[in-house]
Amino acid sequence: MDHEDIVAITEYITKGVYPRGISKGEKRSLRKRCHSFSLKNGVLYHHGNKHKKQRLVVSDPQERVRILDTMHRDSDGRPTHNGIKFTHRKVTDWYWWRGITEDVKTFCKRCPECSQLAVANPNRHSEPEDSDSNRYSMPIQMMYYSDMRY
Ligand SMILES: [Zn+2]
Repeated sequence: MDHEDIVAITEYITKGVYPRGISKGEKRSLRKRCHSFSLKNGVLYHHGNKHKKQRLVVSDPQERVRILDTMHRDSDGRPTHNGIKFTHRKVTDWYWWRGITEDVKTFCKRCPECSQLAVANPNRHSEPEDSDSNRYSMPIQMMYYSDMRY
C-alpha cells in the first residue's frame, strides 16, 4: 500500500474528505476500503472486513524489511529459520500492508536456511527470478553472516 493511499484513507476516516479530483467510482471504492481500517491515536490499523484482530499498517518499505528481519529472529536476535509459513503467521499477527504475503515469501527465499526448508516442501511452486529481486539481498545476507555461529 502506497503512502498516498494511507493518507487518503486517514483523511477520509478523520475528516470525511476525499483526495482532490477523484471520480465518483474512486470515491466509492475509497469508502469501501475505509471499512477495513480504523484510526487509533493517529495510527492506522487494518482489521479486514471480518473485524479480525487489528494490525498496524506499515507503509515505509524500509520499516517492512526491518519488521521481516525482526520476525525472523528469536528474542535473543538469533535467526529462527522457520520458513515462510511460520514467519508469515508471526508477521501478519501484528502488521499489515498490501503484498505482505509476497514480501514474506521473498524474504524467506533469500535466506539460505529458510529457502532450504522451502525446497523440502513439495507444495511450493518456483517463481522466476526477476531483476528486481536482489534489491534487499545484500544487507539481509550480511546480517545473517554477522550472526552466524561457528
Ligand atoms: Zn531463515
